[in-house]
Amino acid sequence: MLIVMKHTAPPEQIEHVIAEIQRRGYRAEPIAGRERTAIALIGDDGRVDANVLAALPGVVRIIHVSPPYRQVSRETRPEDTVFDLPNGSLVGGRNVVIMAGPCAVESEEQIFETAKQVRNAGATILRGGAFKPRTSPYAFQGLGEKGLALLAAAGREYGMPVVTEAVDPAGVELVVRYADIIQIGARNMQNYSLLREAGRSGKPIVLKRGLSATIKELLLAAEYIFLEGETRVILCERGIRTFASHARNTLDLTAVATVHELSHLPIIVDPSHATGSRSKVIPMARAAVAAGADGVMLEVHPEPERALSDGAQSLRTEQLPQLIDELRVIARAIGRDLEPRRESASASGVQSVAGTV
Ligand code: PEP
Ligand code: MN
Repeated sequence: MLIVMKHTAPPEQIEHVIAEIQRRGYRAEPIAGRERTAIALIGDDGRVDANVLAALPGVVRIIHVSPPYRQVSRETRPEDTVFDLPNGSLVGGRNVVIMAGPCAVESEEQIFETAKQVRNAGATILRGGAFKPRTSPYAFQGLGEKGLALLAAAGREYGMPVVTEAVDPAGVELVVRYADIIQIGARNMQNYSLLREAGRSGKPIVLKRGLSATIKELLLAAEYIFLEGETRVILCERGIRTFASHARNTLDLTAVATVHELSHLPIIVDPSHATGSRSKVIPMARAAVAAGADGVMLEVHPEPERALSDGAQSLRTEQLPQLIDELRVIARAIGRDLEPRRESASASGVQSVAGTV
């Protein structure tokens, strides 16, 4: 960290800053320039409160030399994090993963039918909420444990690991019994006790970006999970809150490129919550893969008009095969591929899709 002094700062103020750095147990190296002095704080272990130093008399600004997120930073680990999920499908690197399923598990018939269609279309991970964080307390809140059990059964039946949301720390234990991947929802990105609990669960985690969270905050949230020992973290851009009202949220695709620059973690895109309407989901899913996303998470429903949540943004199950075929073409155009690769698809029992390139 560099503490830059005002050009008018007298020697006593510079000495005071040096003393404050040393009092905290760090080394201070003043660098005298022609007009002003900067003081290098050596050995910042993340505990230094830059705001307190910035408020000292004579300080004009602080320059951070190292990012505050350490373990998830690309500086710490230059190569992409790649890991496999229970079905052997790889996340990260050149792989593009397709997660699809309903917003919420509603019934046995609905989740089994969706799982079948999703699997036949070429998705490898089944999504479905059992505990729904709804804006209104009167809206459908999910089937709870019954929903988890149905989701897990559908995943088993069709050979797909399942991802589902845990909404509070106390609920993690229950979700872990049924889920292969734990989802932390956008509203909970900065629920630090939930991040810690999920990080201790032994399951990979999909961490969604908060509604108004910066990329730095997202990476620091992932850092909480890492500090509990879990390194299988998939970040997810799901749209942020802006002044624009033509879509439910504003899909920030620069998050994909930015995360890839700053971190070794994979990042997927959820165009369903990002856009809020079916007609926009397909173009934004294509754009996400073209932008280098490590996967997409899509809401699909056999009868979106009857969905108990997020029907307007849910693709019809019959729209999925074509979209996934298109995503495969886009992925290959940029040197990537969908998981599982076509060559191994029949070997792993996944049905091939007509019209595949
Ligand atoms: C979800 O994926 O089910 C969900 C609620 O998304 P988000 O947390 O991004 O709103
Ligand atoms: Mn939803």
